[in-house]
Amino acid sequence: MIWNETMECMSRGDMRLLQEIRLKKTVEHVYHNCEPYRKRMQEHDVSPDDIRKLEDIVKLPFTSKKDLRDFYPYGLLSVPISEIVRIHASSGTTGKPIVIGYTRNDLGIWSEVGARCFTAYGLGKNDVIQVSYGYGLFTGGLGAHGAAERIGGTVLPTSSGNTEKQILLMHDLGTAGLACTPSYALYLADALLDSGFPREEFQLRVGAFGAEPWTEGMRKELEEKLRIKAYDIYGLTEIIGPGVGHECECQNGTHLCEDHFLPEIVDPETGEPLPPGQMGELVFSTITKDGMPLLRFRTRDLTSLNYEPCACGRTSVRMSRILGRCDDMLIIRGVNVFPSQVEAVLCDIPQLEPHYKIIVDRVNNLDTFEVEVEVNEKYYSDEMAKMLELRKNIAHRLQSVLTIMPEVRLVEPRSIERSQGKAKRVVDKRKLV
Ligand code: ADP
Ligand code: ZN
Repeated sequence: MIWNETMECMSRGDMRLLQEIRLKKTVEHVYHNCEPYRKRMQEHDVSPDDIRKLEDIVKLPFTSKKDLRDFYPYGLLSVPISEIVRIHASSGTTGKPIVIGYTRNDLGIWSEVGARCFTAYGLGKNDVIQVSYGYGLFTGGLGAHGAAERIGGTVLPTSSGNTEKQILLMHDLGTAGLACTPSYALYLADALLDSGFPREEFQLRVGAFGAEPWTEGMRKELEEKLRIKAYDIYGLTEIIGPGVGHECECQNGTHLCEDHFLPEIVDPETGEPLPPGQMGELVFSTITKDGMPLLRFRTRDLTSLNYEPCACGRTSVRMSRILGRCDDMLIIRGVNVFPSQVEAVLCDIPQLEPHYKIIVDRVNNLDTFEVEVEVNEKYYSDEMAKMLELRKNIAHRLQSVLTIMPEVRLVEPRSIERSQGKAKRVVDKRKLV
C-alpha cells in the first residue's frame, strides 16, 4: 500500500521541479529569518537569487553537527520561539546533545512521512502498533507514535524497557507491528520465547526497525526468530526523526521522502558531490520545514543512492543500507573496519547468535582486535576441539572480509549484555587513555 501516491510515485521530472521550488523557498526563509545562515551565506558570497536550479545547491555551504552545537540551543531557529511547539534532542551517541525545535507544521510533516513508512510495511487502521522505541527527547518513541496515529492504527506506547510486560501486552492486545531498534527486537525475540506463549497466539507480522545500523544478516535473524517481515526505517533528529526513509515490500533499498528531505551524496573527505550509485556521505537539505530548516546537513552516514524506479511503484530515490557513520569506522592496525562488516560475517554463521562485541585496545604500541560472540544454545558444547574449530573458522572468515584477523572469543548463550535502545557493540579502549 502507498500512503501518498502523488508524492511517492511522481515522475522524476516533476519531483525535481517540486524540489527546486521548495529549496528556493527554504533558502529565502533561512536567509531572511536566521542570522547565522545569512552570515554564512554572505561569507560564501551566495544569496538566495543564486539558487535557481537544483544544481545550484552546491553553492550553499554545508551545515554540520558542530554548527548545531555552536548555536546551541536556539541560534539556528528560523521562527520565533513562540512558534515552536516541541523540542527533541539527538541521543548523543557522539558528543553533547543537539536540540531541534519543531513548529506545528513540522510535526505534521513528520507524521506524514511516518505514515508513508508504516503504510509501506503493510500496516493500517486495523492494526495494533507497539512503539518500543524510547519516549522522551529521543525522536524514536514520539516519532513512531505520531506515524502510527496518523494512519489510524491503535498505538501501544510501551516505550523501551520492562521487557516481560512488553511481551505480555504484545500477546494480550494482539500487536501486529513492532517499532524498536533491531537490537531491542533481538532482545524481545528471546523474551517472547521465554514467555512460554505459543507463537500462534501472537498477531505480530511486521517490524519497523531502525535508529542504528543493521545488516541483511540481522534482518534474516530477526525475521526467523520473530516470524515477521522486518523493515528498515531511517531518520535522524536534525532532519526530523524516524521517517526520513523507509523500505517497501521489495526490501531492496530505503526510499527517501525526498519531497521533504533533499538528499545528496558527497565525498566525506572533500565534500565534493559524488554520482548516483557511489558510496559516500549522505547530506540532506530540509525543503519544507519551518522551525529549524537545515541546508546541506552532513549526516556522517555512509550510503549510496539509486534513482531507478522500484518494483513497488514508488519513484522516490532509494538508499542502500547504511554502512555506518564515518565516526563508527575503526582503524585497527591501519585497516578500516566498520562494525557492520563484522556483523554481516557473524550473522552468516549458523552456530552463532547475533549478539557480539568488538573490543579494541593497544598493547605495546600494537592494536589488539577482539571479537566476542555468543554461540547458539544448540551448538554450545564443552567439547574443546569443536569449539576451537569454530573459533578458527570465524577468525578466518572475518579475516577474508576485513583483511586483518581478530582474536575470537566464544561465549555462552545470553552472556552478552542486551540493549533496549541503540546497541553499544564497540569498546575501543584506546580512546579511554
Ligand atoms: P544520535 O546521532 O545521537 O544517535 P539520532 O537518534 O538522531 O541521534 O540518530 C540518528 C542516527 O542513527 C543516524 O544518523 C544514523 O547514524 C543512525 N540510524 C538511524 N536509523 C538508521 C537505520 N535505519 N540504519 C542505520 N542507521 C540508522
Ligand atoms: Zn519500493
